[in-house]
Amino acid sequence: MDLFEYQARDLFAKHDVPVLAGEVIDTPEAAREITERLGGKSVVKAQVKVGGRGKAGGVKLAASADEAVARATDILGMDIKGHTVHKVMIAETAPEILEEYYVSFLLDRANRTFLSIASVEGGMEIEEVAATRPEAVAKTPIDPIDGVDEAKAREIVAAAKFPAEVADKVANVLVKLWDTFIKEDALLVEVNPLAKVASGEVIALDGKVSLDDNAEFRHPDFEELHDKAAANPLEAAAKEKNLNYVKLDGEVGIIGNGAGLVMSTLDVVAYAGEKHGGVKPANFLDIGGGASAQVMANGLEIILGDPDVKSVFVNVFGGITACDEVANGIVQALKLLEDRGEKVEKPLVVRLDGNNAELGRQILTDANHPLVQRVDTMDGAADKAAELAAAK
Ligand code: GDP
Ligand code: MN
Repeated sequence: MDLFEYQARDLFAKHDVPVLAGEVIDTPEAAREITERLGGKSVVKAQVKVGGRGKAGGVKLAASADEAVARATDILGMDIKGHTVHKVMIAETAPEILEEYYVSFLLDRANRTFLSIASVEGGMEIEEVAATRPEAVAKTPIDPIDGVDEAKAREIVAAAKFPAEVADKVANVLVKLWDTFIKEDALLVEVNPLAKVASGEVIALDGKVSLDDNAEFRHPDFEELHDKAAANPLEAAAKEKNLNYVKLDGEVGIIGNGAGLVMSTLDVVAYAGEKHGGVKPANFLDIGGGASAQVMANGLEIILGDPDVKSVFVNVFGGITACDEVANGIVQALKLLEDRGEKVEKPLVVRLDGNNAELGRQILTDANHPLVQRVDTMDGAADKAAELAAAK
């Protein structure tokens, strides 16, 4: 889960990373009182989960409360790289900025370790610095057991060649930032810029944090960090029913058992879709191992509820849950939905293989549901589902 800047700022503050005060608002007029409280000037910052807000005009200084309201009016509703600004942070202005640095910790999956990235050339996007001046970016692996103590922080400071006069302060920020990373179960904590200001202090002026969703169970407070406005209602409904569902932008609804099978189904459908005017998978829905009728009904309800879906491909490889149970599940699920008054009008292509495949196929044939077609190979079924979606 990626956080907004203001949420990242709150987590930093909780772990003593130096930040500036600020409040988040969603109406321009609210900027007035906050700016007055901050001493009559402020920075108005778009809250969108994308970088480069500054360049796009989403970060503006305001020299008075009136000006803060005007800047908030400009920025609220703005489109930044496809993200609409619904909230702005009204923040305390930094004292004169002398230098801008970059520091981050992240999970380095490829090398099975944690990694620190640091640069004295912050402010702009780090990818750009890395591409044009790779020598200005210091990457230091972090042992997960040892973590970042003062000595490790000094090693990072030296590797990135921070100026001597800020070395202590940057090292201190790194230790606190590591604290945030570990204690909040983050996958990324990034500060850009970490600004050296006129007083000599270093302050985190912008933060990016991505939390590990798998650790949510030990952070009940993560719940309120979810961006409910942006959440797809079908994804939310699926989550409530413990289904692994991801909305994509195509037309063929996909239900499978097991993430590996579902992922390869996406590929096969996308490939088959090329022959049918470029239709693509509309979603990823993994109903997992034990696909009971209830689970199948829940899955079908989600998929059929997506107006983009034109056809559905149910691709199941029977294992512990055998194909006959799955076939019964599909038949009962359709009945369940119809009993609930849901209108099922979209064609379903079902491919069953694996444990008790013959039995399962026979059940579908016998049920003879007008919307269900049986195709026994994965490629053939993908092709049929794509063809039906294209014909709609
Ligand atoms: P980003 O463009 O999305 O990364 O947004 P940032 O929050 O990093 O802001 C972009 C730039 O605006 C920073 O690199 C700073 O130079 C400047 N900036 C941000 N906050 C302040 C502030 O409080 N005072 C001043 N003077 N400049 C700021
Ligand atoms: Mn930034």
